[in-house]
Amino acid sequence: MTTQQNILVLNCGSSSLKFAVIQPLSQQVLIHGLAERLASNSAQIQYTLAGQADKHTLTPSQTDHQGAIECVISLLQTQDLLTSLAGVGHRVVHGGEAYSESLLLTNESINDLKTLHHLAPLHNPVNLLGIEAITQLLPKISQVAVFDTAFHQTLPEAAYLYGVPLELYKQHGVRRYGFHGTSYRYVGQKAAQLLGKNSDECHFLVAHLGNGCSACAIKNGKSVDTSMGMTPLEGLVMGTRSGDVDPGLIDFLCERLNQPLSEIMSLLNKQSGLLGLSGKTNDMREVQQLAEQGDTRANLAIEVFAFKIARYLGALAVSLPRIDALVFTGGIGENDRLTRSLILEHLAILGFELDGSLNKQNGDHKGRISTHESTLAMVVPTDEERMIAIDTHQLVSRDQ
Ligand code: ADP
Repeated sequence: MTTQQNILVLNCGSSSLKFAVIQPLSQQVLIHGLAERLASNSAQIQYTLAGQADKHTLTPSQTDHQGAIECVISLLQTQDLLTSLAGVGHRVVHGGEAYSESLLLTNESINDLKTLHHLAPLHNPVNLLGIEAITQLLPKISQVAVFDTAFHQTLPEAAYLYGVPLELYKQHGVRRYGFHGTSYRYVGQKAAQLLGKNSDECHFLVAHLGNGCSACAIKNGKSVDTSMGMTPLEGLVMGTRSGDVDPGLIDFLCERLNQPLSEIMSLLNKQSGLLGLSGKTNDMREVQQLAEQGDTRANLAIEVFAFKIARYLGALAVSLPRIDALVFTGGIGENDRLTRSLILEHLAILGFELDGSLNKQNGDHKGRISTHESTLAMVVPTDEERMIAIDTHQLVSRDQ
């Protein structure tokens, strides 16, 4: 393919790199892959091209992000996909208050992005590595940053301010930003399409349940409240994150366990959630297998996980004039019928009633899992990569 119309999407995580080349108009994925265990000597790239899976071990000089991206670029070159690229879209976790939509990058805006590093020190610097690697390897190509936070910039003050001195917001940007915004935007548009409506006339509750979990209230196509906050730690119980805890717990644990703050933060981010509750795994499929074998801690983990989601969805509902649909997405939301059924049971007060057979098949042709007489609950698979490709294509085309 030689016409310049495809988009390379890059998602740089701390030890991984996800990539895909997408044809934005047809939304066809030409190649997608994952480089894992970066910075270790077992780093490798797995990819799927024209339905065929393949893998490639990275040489010792390729195990950092720059090396892995070089390897992806040469893979695209050998597959004759490089000349077809019209732009590169990057997932950038934090856009602060400066970015409420995706951004066509220039040298100046790349420098501006660096001023946001303090808001997401674990994520943004890594995302920037991807941008800088492409600047060096493909200096002529247009690049776009797509922010996880951007969709939530429509939150009203009442939803985004914490009950702390207002100076902390004004001087240090202390507020709720929310994440998973690219997923919510995609899923909100898809759900509206499935209902045969425009997204700006729809009111949705959406639960994005993957390794990271959050929920969002979307009113007239705009985010009006969400469960994640200043950082992705706030809100729901997740794979390894605790979600909401009493802030007093942090001081209590430092004292009681005689450990520094950094250890307690690591406990809340990396050893809690499904992993901490079950004591064995952060992976919902494994938690459920354990529960089926009679593991009571695993069963408890599932119950706590589902209850906290239902409680948050109930709280988010107060931001909507009505609920057109509750939408489940993410690996757990899309596949896990048990979690969905537990959540809907808790939410009977909002008029939900599960259709067991629709739930079993992960929704009918329009994603519906609730009975026709009850409030609509549906499953809509997310696709952040496609959304990034669509945004990148739009901004790059406008620039030409
Ligand atoms: P990420 O946030 O890393 O993108 P995913 O959206 O892929 O994660 O979600 C991963 C989670 O989805 C894991 O907990 C996994 O166990 C869960 N999951 C995937 N398939 C199923 C399934 N069939 N049943 C239950 N949980 C599932």
